[in-house]
Amino acid sequence: MNEFAPRHGRNQPSSMFFWPTADRPVAVRGEGIFIWDDEGRRYVDASCGPQTTNIGHNNRRVVEAMRAQMDDICFAFRSHFKNGPAETLADRLADLGQDKGLTRAFFCSGGSEAVEGAIKLARQYALAKGEGTRYKIISRLPSYHGSTLGALSLTGDPAMFAPFAPMMQIQPKIPAPFVVERPEGESEDAAALRFAQALEDEIINQGPSTVLAFIMEPIGGAATGGLIAPDVYYARVREICDRHGLLLIYDEVMCGSGRSGKYLCAEHWDANPDIIAMAKGLAAGYVPLGAVLARGDMVEAVYDAGGYAHGHTYSAGPLACAAGLAVMDVLMEDGLVANAARQGAKLKAALEGLMDEFPFIGEVRGRGLMLGFDVMADRKKRIPLPPELNAGSEIAQACYDRGLIIYSRRMLDGLRGDHFLVTPPLNVTDEEIGMIVDLLRQGLGDFAPKAAA
Ligand code: PLP
Repeated sequence: MNEFAPRHGRNQPSSMFFWPTADRPVAVRGEGIFIWDDEGRRYVDASCGPQTTNIGHNNRRVVEAMRAQMDDICFAFRSHFKNGPAETLADRLADLGQDKGLTRAFFCSGGSEAVEGAIKLARQYALAKGEGTRYKIISRLPSYHGSTLGALSLTGDPAMFAPFAPMMQIQPKIPAPFVVERPEGESEDAAALRFAQALEDEIINQGPSTVLAFIMEPIGGAATGGLIAPDVYYARVREICDRHGLLLIYDEVMCGSGRSGKYLCAEHWDANPDIIAMAKGLAAGYVPLGAVLARGDMVEAVYDAGGYAHGHTYSAGPLACAAGLAVMDVLMEDGLVANAARQGAKLKAALEGLMDEFPFIGEVRGRGLMLGFDVMADRKKRIPLPPELNAGSEIAQACYDRGLIIYSRRMLDGLRGDHFLVTPPLNVTDEEIGMIVDLLRQGLGDFAPKAAA
């Protein structure tokens, strides 16, 4: 038992100042898909926190690899020393990125830092090419790219960025491709191309010579609940970026590292991004770790122009990278990426099945185990449930009370109601998928009378 539990138990005031944690139980143990609290209650973690613990909780191989690294050396500063785990992990990412032309990795400590690193690399590459007029980065609305001021300027959520707006340069936004909301008679592909055209229109509106890059999550997470576009969208976006000299950045902080059923989410499409931001599943939350994976020639050009002017104290620390390597070993050796594709298909079909039972489920979205759904008063007309029903928190709480953790979010633009991510670890079994679906059905059932009222 965690020795800290008695003092900081449930309903005890917390000294932490960010989220109110007083009414949450105290997590004391994790194993695989399960977390136990200090009262011995077991929770099925079908969220992986914010889609982070992709190999499940407390995998012994990762814990042992971290312990072994700690016995050798916990920290060595990258300006003073190379270290084996960072070099090897970069090689492994370069091998995985090779087919996409992404062969150089920079390490940091999380998703926001990875996005900042991507922004800085893009800008420095433009400067190296003599394109210093390019500085704007177009992103999508809604979207989430992180909470630091640079990443927040890309985040498509006015409620999040508005308080800080005077302190940063909010970047241009285009609508996220909610193809499901297309007018009657328009095909999915035509709608996807219309959404892609919004990018070109915005580039022209901004002045192409001022636009540096376009950033998007290839499968959307917190802001869009598993939003994925038809294949034509990805190809057309790449084409538009090429036509106007923009870099294409994929934010795979949430959908990457195997969760989508491919190690890099970008592998689902022929089009190649120039930079990928990674974090979360990279070291699966065992330690903080993020990465910027980039085209080798871009990094070379930036080096030739004087070097990559960016970094953090913890960049490429040996302990974080040893954990990342061990997580990668578990993913690859245990076939978890393929398992994510297989179990994800089953879970998606089961979620779609729940649409028959619960008419308030609007749309099931995503690929692999990067899955989500939203809730609507009218599925066909895409009319959200009244906000006062608090469907997101009510359903997530009903599930929580039954021992199932899913991730809920109020849609940021206020137009689309609430949505959920159902994102269990990538080693989830058939039996556990069944357990998740049963508990979810019960949680949705608890809420159903309110939706019908
Ligand atoms: N980008 C995406 C797509 C994310 O989902 C997140 C976090 O949820 C971030 C960036 C920011 O990552 P972090 O919270 O590690 O800073």
